[in-house]
Amino acid sequence: MSRPNYDPQAIEAARQEAWQQRGDFEAPQPQEGQARVYVKPSSPFTSGNLHMGHVRDYSIGDSYARFRRGRGDAVLFGFGFDAFGLPAELAAIERQEPPADWVAQCGERMLGQMKRLGFSFDYDRVFYSSDEAQYRWSQWLFVTLLARDLIYRADTTVDWCDTCQTTLASIQVEDGRCWRCHNEVRLIRRPTWFLRITPYLEENDRNVERLQSGGNWDELSLATQRYILGRADGIELDLEGGDGRSLTVFTPHRKFAGAASFVVLSPRHPEVDEWATDPAAREELERMRSGGWDRSARDAHSVPLVDTGASIAGPGGEELPVVVSPIVDARFGPTAALGIPAVDEADRDIAERLERVEVPVSDDGEEGEAPAATPVEGARETTCYRANDFSISRQRSWGTPIPVILCEQCGPVPVPDEDLPVVLPRDLKPTGEGNPLAERPDFVDVECPKCGAAAKRETDTLDCHFDALWLWVPAAVPPEARDEQMFSHPDLQEWLPAERLVAGNDSGGFVFDQRIVTKALRDIGPFSFIEDGEPFAGCLFHEMVIADGRKMSKHLGNVVNPDELVAENGADTVRMAVLYAAGPAKTLNWSDGAVRFASRFLRNLWNYTHDRAAAIEGLSHDPEAAADTEHMRDRLRKWCENGLARITADIEQLQMHKAVRNITRLLERIQDYEKRVLQRRGELDRADAEAQLAALVLLARTLLPFAPHTAEELLVALGVEDSAGALEAWPEEVDIPVQPSASPASP
Ligand SMILES: [Zn+2]
Ligand SMILES: [Zn+2]
Repeated sequence: MSRPNYDPQAIEAARQEAWQQRGDFEAPQPQEGQARVYVKPSSPFTSGNLHMGHVRDYSIGDSYARFRRGRGDAVLFGFGFDAFGLPAELAAIERQEPPADWVAQCGERMLGQMKRLGFSFDYDRVFYSSDEAQYRWSQWLFVTLLARDLIYRADTTVDWCDTCQTTLASIQVEDGRCWRCHNEVRLIRRPTWFLRITPYLEENDRNVERLQSGGNWDELSLATQRYILGRADGIELDLEGGDGRSLTVFTPHRKFAGAASFVVLSPRHPEVDEWATDPAAREELERMRSGGWDRSARDAHSVPLVDTGASIAGPGGEELPVVVSPIVDARFGPTAALGIPAVDEADRDIAERLERVEVPVSDDGEEGEAPAATPVEGARETTCYRANDFSISRQRSWGTPIPVILCEQCGPVPVPDEDLPVVLPRDLKPTGEGNPLAERPDFVDVECPKCGAAAKRETDTLDCHFDALWLWVPAAVPPEARDEQMFSHPDLQEWLPAERLVAGNDSGGFVFDQRIVTKALRDIGPFSFIEDGEPFAGCLFHEMVIADGRKMSKHLGNVVNPDELVAENGADTVRMAVLYAAGPAKTLNWSDGAVRFASRFLRNLWNYTHDRAAAIEGLSHDPEAAADTEHMRDRLRKWCENGLARITADIEQLQMHKAVRNITRLLERIQDYEKRVLQRRGELDRADAEAQLAALVLLARTLLPFAPHTAEELLVALGVEDSAGALEAWPEEVDIPVQPSASPASP
């Protein structure tokens, strides 16, 4: 019998057809005593194309999901699209079509790519955040949090992008630039809706230690949570102005509070207007708030600074100038801080710009010499967090309508639950300017639910960051139950918290806020069963995929297209290559070398396995000869045991690059075993070959999570039954026949 060709396209199409027909990846109803494993991948924007970062993300998540299924655990591997927001809106503007149409096309295309790559999602559970049935619950969440005062409307300064004509959450501002268009962002004043996260910062902080000791959060993900929190430990003290005004100030420099030479207030500090009373200072402050603050000016040399002209008595009674600067926000949150140039470099830079302050330390090489400690009486230990409430409303049309009616008599009135969803007009065609919702009388003009007077709907929509707060929930609810029971279905208690989140390292902000809102929903009721308020029991963040040492971009012409790679090499090769090329904590600098390596490995394994499976037919068993090589079969068994233990441990820790490496090593061992037997006796006894085939079965089983199509086809060729249960079973132990008596006698 001639060996079949390794034809990835044909093999993969056949296996995918079988998976779909059998419904292999539908999330099961967990059985008593069965471990429940919800693997949550990142939720892609409906951009229309998977990029290599997605391939990396889903290849890690998929191999883990397949591994856990193989161990007999109940696995939910589901996701939905983050379909609202600017990317889709801008693409729709460019193409002059309704965003809803664009999103539907993109989603379909991306699902096709995912299926072609063989990712074992429960595709029946896929959802779009822009579906009415879905955003109805974003609106429910808004109203629910509003009733608990965790959402509020405030006339305040917000980050504004001129290009995108929208306000931005602080998380969307990267180094003073817009996350989307990379243009500089400025600060303006307007009424906006805020999510109040401050009540849960301390608990998020506390829990990070626990998540770390649990061992299922990797270093990268923990580091993002600490960074976003921005914890600063120090002291606070109350300063008295001579005129009855007082101010509570913070400093991280406990021992040197007495050496303070000015006080710096955040422009968002609630009492800032009381200090900027001088007309000139007031004007400057207004300018800072309404656009004068160029957000790229982050460092202390160039950050905006307003000297209020006012002073306050310092800890030692000396007069300290009071200044206003957003540098406080960037360091400690919207608070007031002591400026201590003697020990703090940023404060020294500020002091140099303040004519009223003497700079105590010159820059003439005396660095490292700490001044004498000057602690003060009456200081209280305290902790500041840089993370703060953020704006969740945007002046864009492709988003969840905010379920609020603005009435002149009653103020903002939430839309009653029975009137949800507030439907976004489906035929809405954004132009890229202003907010088209505001120009639609059929949307805007309504009656006030409270007093019945003519009123207007809020025309801001929710930032897709708000939708993302609960984007990890819907996959856990059967699609047919989502209308009624999105936050109350009994399955939520089966699947939540998610056993593992696998996402790119730019997801830290999403995860941080998801952790906040879980705690809020625990306290409100629906998630009372998640006692610690943590949505993810484990978390793996991976770095991005780059090419030629640079970020992939159309502009640089270095984008690697997954479709082309798959068409040329097959999905298994691409999946293996992307896993093999780098550990998750490392940036993956794409090269064809990894593809060549994976392709060669799979082809070699295919040929080798088929050849050995065919050759055994012609071998006979001679007890004496078999006894002579028993120690070799025993060594093969040990190699297999060793390899299996390593690969299992690697996958448990989601270190897939190590697992793939250990699988390739195992093949080398199996080939080495054959070579040694041949060196000793010139040919294999049937017992030797049976041991070898058993080792190849083991190898194919460990390969299955990574290259599932090829591995399944090999298992079938080796005589394993062609059913999901028989194929995907993870080997818990090694079964290599060592004793010749264990093998049936040959004719
Ligand atoms: Zn922008
Ligand atoms: Zn009213």
